[in-house]
Amino acid sequence: MEKIYDILIVGGGPSGITAGIYAKRAGREVAIIEKFVVGGQVALIGQIDNYPGFSHIQGDELTKAFKDHAKSLDIPFIYDDILDFNFDSDAKILKGKKGDYKSKAVILAMGSHSKELNISGEKEFIGRGVSYCALCDGNFFKNQEVAVVGSGDSAVSDALYLSNICTKVYILTKGQLKLNNYSEDDLKNRDNIVLLKGALSKSIQGDSKVTSLSFDKNDKEEIIDVSAVFVAIGRKPDTETLKDKINLTERGYIETDERLQTTARGVFACGDVRNNPIKQIATAVGEGAIAGTEANKYVLKNFSKK
Ligand SMILES: Cc1cc2nc3c(=O)[nH]c(=O)nc-3n(C[C@H](O)[C@H](O)[C@H](O)COP(=O)(O)OP(=O)(O)OC[C@H]3O[C@@H](n4cnc5c(N)ncnc54)[C@H](O)[C@@H]3O)c2cc1C
Repeated sequence: MEKIYDILIVGGGPSGITAGIYAKRAGREVAIIEKFVVGGQVALIGQIDNYPGFSHIQGDELTKAFKDHAKSLDIPFIYDDILDFNFDSDAKILKGKKGDYKSKAVILAMGSHSKELNISGEKEFIGRGVSYCALCDGNFFKNQEVAVVGSGDSAVSDALYLSNICTKVYILTKGQLKLNNYSEDDLKNRDNIVLLKGALSKSIQGDSKVTSLSFDKNDKEEIIDVSAVFVAIGRKPDTETLKDKINLTERGYIETDERLQTTARGVFACGDVRNNPIKQIATAVGEGAIAGTEANKYVLKNFSKK
């Protein structure tokens, strides 16, 4: 007979793993489906300084701890890329590259990823001066000069945050600032922020670490000496295939109610893929706990043999 899981979790980052831990400890039969590396973005981070319980921990160490915890509970990891979903019947179907999977409840924990500049030096210096998270990595560049690339609220928020830590912060916008929550005056009020409008980033240079950023402005190439380039041109969830199945925000983040249930019954979402205001490990883990618990309640209420 075809296997039907109680709860299948898509995404083996901190949110999905936490959801798995809560659901498994509640007695459900669960599995976590991961397409790339267990640990998600955490597996790719250098040092983490803001996760409670560890004043400093390396991303790979925390990943190992998450993984060991899941293994100690016998939560299986299935390595597959889920390409499509069918939530129409009681047994929801996840269509993977390697096969189909059925489950009574589903937790979507697919994370999100930063949009990239796609300029020379960007990939090469990730973790060595190129960062997509000022909140996470800003402190590594204390008392140094840095650049933020982006023109929206998150770029301004990053620049303001970094201006408290760094000696000088350049903010490079391709065109005009596009702000909802901030104004240009917020930047002008800080002595150590330099706003470079109409600056098109071209390449990032360095040796073992970032040393400078080149850009075009008024048809002239310019270069600034910086120790870090923070890219803040937006994030992107991979939710294209969910578009017609559950409600998403304009930017593709999953909408849920307060119990983290999506607009499809029995389908929950947690972590960076959800429409939440803060994308951090602590919030991903917190939401994973809610999603795992609520999915368990859903299964018990709708499928338990009384
Ligand atoms: C460079 C960098 C540094 C950071 N530093 C910090 C920090 O210091 N402190 C902090 O709190 N936060 C930090 N963050 C943010 C933090 O890593 C994220 O908020 C957190 O990992 C989100 O967890 P998640 O489980 O929601 O998503 P993710 O970690 O993104 O995990 C999602 C997982 O789902 C998998 N997946 C996606 N789609 C599918 C699919 N279709 N099928 C199967 N699997 C799929 C992905 O491969 C991924 O493994 C940093 C992020 C980056 C990029």
